[in-house]
Amino acid sequence: MYLADLYDSFLIDLDGVIYVGENPTYKAPQILNKLYKAGKEIIFITNDPRRSSSQYATKLTKIDINAPATNIVTSATALSIHIQRKYNTNSKKAFVIGSDNLKKEVKKIGLELISKKSKVNCDFVIVGGDNRVDYNDLKKATLCIRNGAKFYATNNDPYYPTPQGLVPATGALVAAIETASSTKATIVGKPKRIMFNIAKSLLVNKSRIAVIGDRLDTDIAGGKKAGLSTILTLTGSTKMDEVKSSKIKPDYVIKNLSYLYKDSSLSKHN
Ligand SMILES: [Mg+2]
Repeated sequence: MYLADLYDSFLIDLDGVIYVGENPTYKAPQILNKLYKAGKEIIFITNDPRRSSSQYATKLTKIDINAPATNIVTSATALSIHIQRKYNTNSKKAFVIGSDNLKKEVKKIGLELISKKSKVNCDFVIVGGDNRVDYNDLKKATLCIRNGAKFYATNNDPYYPTPQGLVPATGALVAAIETASSTKATIVGKPKRIMFNIAKSLLVNKSRIAVIGDRLDTDIAGGKKAGLSTILTLTGSTKMDEVKSSKIKPDYVIKNLSYLYKDSSLSKHN
């Protein structure tokens, strides 16, 4: 019995689990193909809204993993699917502070985009992954929300690493608009439920599901909140001593994905 045999479906994070930069983690392509051969369902989940699902599919093909774009859920696709399922988007308008990909996703579900210079009010303010923001973006978003627009964000990551150090990410913009509008945003990405619910809704086998991720605060905490089994891999941002000192306890900790098919992996972590 291998760890992989305990589950029918996997929600797998990309960065730090399948690859780091352009390189696959140890044996990731082989293990993924083994899972597919065993009939496992796999949905890839990522908080990064800057690339489209098809761009991620292309990136995976380059490391010999053939996943259909429909099985790759970014925080931008999760956000647009969520809005489409929850509201009638017909003739509704959105103001988006975000990447070109996020704008495309929002347009796909029938929302009309307005610009920061527009005098028109909008129904949705959507924020995610933009490094070209200026005061007028924040102003337009604030005015729209104060006039009743629903406020959504792809994720709430406060900062991200660059060669110069940690710099403001989506969460920093969200905080500015929340402060100015006195309204909390609905966050879609991990560790929030919406992301996991959307990914789960795409599965046929919904009973034995495990989340595989490299971060305790997003992948593992979110998976646990969504009531799913959790497997932490040590191929990304988390080291074993952090696992020991953290209050967030994954069901299993594995050194890399190859341990899904090793006998020794079946010692429960807690
Ligand atoms: Mg990751």
